[in-house]
Amino acid sequence: MKTSSQISPNLNLLEWFHKHKRDLPFRIKPTAYKIWVSEVMLQQTRVAAMLPLYDQFLLRFPNMESLAQAEEEEVLEFWSGLGYYSRARNLRKACNYVISNYNGKFPESLEEAMDIPGVGPYTARAVLSMAYGKSYAVLDGNVKRVVSRLFAESDERKWQTLADQFLNKENPGDHNQAMMELGALVCLPNPICENCPIQSACKASLTNTISKYPPSKKDKEKLDIEIHFYIIQKNQKILLLKDKNRRFFKDIYSLPYTILPKDDETKLGTAYLTPGYLKELLEDLKTTAIPGTTKHSITHHRISVYLHQATKEFSDKNHILPGAEIIWTDWERLPKDFPSSIAKKVLKFPGVGGLFST
Ligand code: SF4
Repeated sequence: MKTSSQISPNLNLLEWFHKHKRDLPFRIKPTAYKIWVSEVMLQQTRVAAMLPLYDQFLLRFPNMESLAQAEEEEVLEFWSGLGYYSRARNLRKACNYVISNYNGKFPESLEEAMDIPGVGPYTARAVLSMAYGKSYAVLDGNVKRVVSRLFAESDERKWQTLADQFLNKENPGDHNQAMMELGALVCLPNPICENCPIQSACKASLTNTISKYPPSKKDKEKLDIEIHFYIIQKNQKILLLKDKNRRFFKDIYSLPYTILPKDDETKLGTAYLTPGYLKELLEDLKTTAIPGTTKHSITHHRISVYLHQATKEFSDKNHILPGAEIIWTDWERLPKDFPSSIAKKVLKFPGVGGLFST
């Protein structure tokens, strides 16, 4: 019989998980919907705060259909206490999307899952691995800490590949939960290595370099993101927007923009998320890409910049919610009203020339 140090570390990990896991309601008879709801709730809320609200929410909205058919107001009432209400609005809309496009069954491919509005790589991987046993490793904040130490790797861009390599392909759902649980209970910022089921494989522990992993904020690599700007017009004027809750250009007007992570959305805080009013607007006006791209840099961010144009004009039925201010400008005044070097770069895109030549 093999001793625990002879069997592979990810089997040790599973054994540990089955002994120590917390009885969380979304782990009981997990369905794609239940896991999806739990992951969305946990995006900005701690497990302990989320649990009582999760049970009530699931009781009232036990499946996608009941959530999609409910009035938004009622959904928000049941979200009360969790904050960040755009998550609830988007979840309800996304259920409608899955019902219309996939007959109410959460799609099984990663690409299709990530096409669901509001579902990024982390959520897609979590749902697919836990509900359908698909071989995708998840990387949340806790798992990143474990992976970084396990492989003594400080380059964040390599963590997803390493997590995928370490994944137990026989049981990816439990493996992912085990990694998250290990990060939450044992591999804490101050880790309790003597209780760790993968200590014998942990490079940081073996080389006594745990304090180096994951690297502290100031040592961190730059964050790779994409910024997508949008030209939205009404009567030949161009919409500029100011929103103090967003990540960049808080105090100046800019073309409306959305931010996408290059690899993993869990790195990005809420200020990076697209506000609900902008999502709705872009969905309604439909956009098309304008040829051109450029690189830009803003403190700790390495940015690829893209530009899009709305295919319809802004109309009276469109609205921008309170919190954001707007002005309408014209082509000539744009660099003045959006006073950032990024604007000057965008306006030089080869596809921009023909837009305002009339
Ligand atoms: S041995 Fe320590 S540092 Fe390494 S994974 Fe386990 S708890 Fe984390």
